[in-house]
Amino acid sequence: MRRYRLRVPAAEAEPALVRMLDLFPGGVEEERDGDDVVLAGYADEAPADGLESDEVEPGWEDRWRAYHRPVTVGRIWVGPPWSPQPAGGAWPLPIVIDPGRAFGTGGHGSTRAALELLQRLEPCPALDLGCGSGVLAIAAARLGFGPLACFDRDPLAVGATAENAERNGVALDVSLADVLVDPLPSAPLWIANLELGLLRSLLERPDLPPRILVSGLLDPETVGGGERVVAGGWAAEIVER
Ligand code: SAH
Repeated sequence: MRRYRLRVPAAEAEPALVRMLDLFPGGVEEERDGDDVVLAGYADEAPADGLESDEVEPGWEDRWRAYHRPVTVGRIWVGPPWSPQPAGGAWPLPIVIDPGRAFGTGGHGSTRAALELLQRLEPCPALDLGCGSGVLAIAAARLGFGPLACFDRDPLAVGATAENAERNGVALDVSLADVLVDPLPSAPLWIANLELGLLRSLLERPDLPPRILVSGLLDPETVGGGERVVAGGWAAEIVER
C-alpha cells in the first residue's frame, strides 16, 4: 500500500479534490501546507501518472478514516460511522456507510448524481446493480423504495452492503452476481452506477425494466436517457423504455 500525493495552490484545491476523489473513491486526505493544499489517497498501484508517493506507515487505515467526510445530497445525509450524525431537522434521512474496501462513501460525483435523481422518482421496488458499499440501495430504502435487491460481482462489496444494511436497519437482499449476464429478479426500476462500457452492455439485456437510473457517465457522456444530473464531472440519467 502506498500513499499518493498531489500538491496544488489552495485556490485550485476544489477541482484537484474532484480529480483525486475520482482516482481514490474510498476517500481523500486534505492538508493545508502554507499556500498549498496537499491531497492524498491510498492505493496498491498508482491510479494515474504524476502523483508523488510514499510507502505507508502501519496504522494508515485509521489515518485515512479521519478524512472520510459526510456528504449531503438533497434529503439524504451520508456519513461514516465515526462521524457525528446531524441533529434532526435539516437532514431527516441520515445513512451511515462504512465502505471498508468496497466502492462508495457517497462522496463520489457519480454516487451524488444518482442520489439526486433517486429523490425525484416515486418509490417502487428496485434493483441496485453494482451495489459497492450499498449506499444507493440504503438511501433508496430510506426514501421508501422497496423491496430492494442488490448485486455485485465483488464479494467485498456484497459483504459491505450486507453490513451497511444491518447498520442502518434496512432490509436488503444482497447477492453475488455479474449483472451483465446473470439472471436478475423482476423489478420496475434498476439503479446502476457503473461506467459507460458496462452500462451499454447492461442496456442490451433482453429483460430491461420500464425505468433505469444509470450513473457513472463521465460528463458529457450519455446513454441517451432523459432527465440528467451532473455532479463533480459525473452524470446520471433516467432511461425510460
Ligand atoms: N453503487 C455504489 C458503487 C458503484 S461502483 C455507489 O454508487 O457508490 C460500481 C460497482 O459495480 C463496484 O462495486 C463493482 O464491483 C461493481 N461491478 C462492476 N461491474 C459489475 C458487473 N458486471 N456485475 C456486478 N457488479 C459489477
